[in-house]
Amino acid sequence: MASQASKRIRKEDLIKLTQAMVRIPSVNPPGNEDDLAEFLVQELKSYGFSSKLVNVKPKRSNVMAMLSGKKKGKTILMNGHMDVVPVGDLSAWKFEPFSGTLHQGRIYGRGSVDMKGGLASAIIATKAFADTYGEDFAGSILIAGVVDEEDAGIGSKKLVESAKADMAIVAEASDNAIYRAHKGVLWFEITTKGQALHSSRVRSGNFENAIYRMTRVVNALEDYLAELEKRKDALVGNPTINVSVIKGGTKTNVVPDLCTITVDRRLLPNEDPKVALEEIHKLLVSKTKLKDLAFHVALEREGTIIKESEPIVKLTRNAIQEVTGKQPKVTGCMATTDMAFLVNQGKIPSVVYGPGSLEQAHVANEYVEVDELLKAAKVYATMFEKILCK
Ligand SMILES: [Zn+2]
Repeated sequence: MASQASKRIRKEDLIKLTQAMVRIPSVNPPGNEDDLAEFLVQELKSYGFSSKLVNVKPKRSNVMAMLSGKKKGKTILMNGHMDVVPVGDLSAWKFEPFSGTLHQGRIYGRGSVDMKGGLASAIIATKAFADTYGEDFAGSILIAGVVDEEDAGIGSKKLVESAKADMAIVAEASDNAIYRAHKGVLWFEITTKGQALHSSRVRSGNFENAIYRMTRVVNALEDYLAELEKRKDALVGNPTINVSVIKGGTKTNVVPDLCTITVDRRLLPNEDPKVALEEIHKLLVSKTKLKDLAFHVALEREGTIIKESEPIVKLTRNAIQEVTGKQPKVTGCMATTDMAFLVNQGKIPSVVYGPGSLEQAHVANEYVEVDELLKAAKVYATMFEKILCK
């Protein structure tokens, strides 16, 4: 049975808002989300929600909007990021990436699925709920449009410093599943040192070549993946490691004195990035016998997990069942999201559930299906009723 609020959700509103958001570029890097943030504040005000910008960095503000009922009750936080990744090769796009073209039931454009569509679904669901109940409910809906999810996550980091909520939904694309866990990520560089020398003067065992040293590191890391693959996690699979970039040497007739690689290590939900790095450090010292390896961490984002027994899991599952007639899978996400900040730092039990598929994220011709937006919005509105209308 469809909830009262979900019956009020109109496809046209979802299309219009998603298109409007896609048409305001908010590419990260550099991450100038302010044009979109200002648009959203005005839009949310026009729906009668109290809304404001919360500055995180110059030209980068979160949007916060609150809808509160007459009576005290639970607060549900709807979280969505406003930034998008760069468009990449423009010639691969069949529609202009910021056109928000509607074609055969899909809205095309950078950010359509990741995740302006998800944020639009949360906003339109809240509007439908407000139009249905006015202030005649208990508790609050807090909408947070945040900056910088596609990089270090400074937006959600800032959000959890002040936002209080009993539960949260991150409206990222989740392929019809509910994610109650996701992986973390650690990016770092390793540098090996050698000694510059004229290339004509090399003698076996008597010169120090930074690239030769790095091959020992690279080989050890290649073998290490098989070790990591043994550490299976039921929700997110296994941790991984990958050497992604290598740079070394200056000139053909010089023995290289420096070589650097960048490494991507994906972490299990409970893995501490610092412990993971320490393990790699020890492994490499023992395998390569190199004592002067230099490590530099570029990005550290924790994974996260909540218990299956958390009310937000059941609420989301029941709402999906009600709207779609199908039981969703409750699983984990391979990618990193802002859920970790909400759960680990904000102590807010959260799940990821949102329209579309991650397969469509970060690619040319990114799109989101309008029917997916409608379904997610109906699920959110159904949840609001269950949580806020007693
Ligand atoms: Zn995203």
